[in-house]
Amino acid sequence: MRAMVLDSAARLTERNLPIPEPGPRQVLVRVIACGVCRTDLHIRDAELHPPRLPLVLGHEVVGTVEAGGSEASRFAAGARVGIPWLGSTCGVCEFCRRGAENLCDQARFTGFHIDGGYAEFVVADERYCHTIPARYGDVQAAPLLCAGLIGFRALRAAGDPKRIGLYGFGASAHIIAQIAKGQGREVFAFTRSGDTEGQKFALSLGATWAGGSDQSPPEPLDAAMIFAPVGSLVPAALKAVRKGGSVVCAGIHMSDIPSFPYSILWEERVLRSVANLTRADAHEFLKLAPQIPIRTTVQEFALEDAEEALDRLRAGRIEGAAVLRVRQP
Ligand SMILES: [Zn+2]
Ligand SMILES: [Zn+2]
Repeated sequence: MRAMVLDSAARLTERNLPIPEPGPRQVLVRVIACGVCRTDLHIRDAELHPPRLPLVLGHEVVGTVEAGGSEASRFAAGARVGIPWLGSTCGVCEFCRRGAENLCDQARFTGFHIDGGYAEFVVADERYCHTIPARYGDVQAAPLLCAGLIGFRALRAAGDPKRIGLYGFGASAHIIAQIAKGQGREVFAFTRSGDTEGQKFALSLGATWAGGSDQSPPEPLDAAMIFAPVGSLVPAALKAVRKGGSVVCAGIHMSDIPSFPYSILWEERVLRSVANLTRADAHEFLKLAPQIPIRTTVQEFALEDAEEALDRLRAGRIEGAAVLRVRQP
């Protein structure tokens, strides 16, 4: 099979690899599309260090089941499935036992511990795969699997804000803006300074206001979510939220947060992060997405153009989400 492999030289190269064999509880999935997530970019740029190289990235995988291992029975051959970041958990640690499998001590992540979807085939534990809602095309569905569902987890962590700020209007924010709007919230979008295209895009998705992240919102926010990996946005967001408001950092990596005066955290403002996802999050989100209905804006790339997709993501030149189209349906 063809795969884009991250090797020790920290770049993706096209290689021919053997098609993987599914283990007992795994399914072999023929990949149709795979979303390009900012986490992939952090791994590619050696800001996050996977436990082994070479590695196949990609954890927003949409494909069809080709075959199952000896104990796999959940999906029939041909079934369309989605494979997200959470690849497996131990089921017995204190986090797993209390419903926080996203924090499992032994969690294994797709495209990090396990080879992911920048390839023609992938194997995945069937218990961590999800059925994709029928209304979505393969490419359109891919960004739901991380940008959408981890963003959804972050939105819930923000409480019940009437006015919510989204810092970094990329793959996640363009989905979360639609959910927040659907829930009757007012969305304030913050883009890179001077990114008028991004601001127009945010307004087209129903944002009440859009501006640069160096600007103050016209009204104090009840909560803010930070998707851009930029630590200086933390004090900026704290300044933008009212008393008792919360700031949620939704990414896996961020540059250092500069020191800031206690006065901007004082008065019961809350600063927190969100990590990974649970299967329950995915279940709930994939049910909600077609009801809103969320529409994803995607920019398609061929599998062999994965590096270009990552370059554009780094430069902020993707409207919505980048997705690798691995195979025509
Ligand atoms: Zn566990
Ligand atoms: Zn991701």
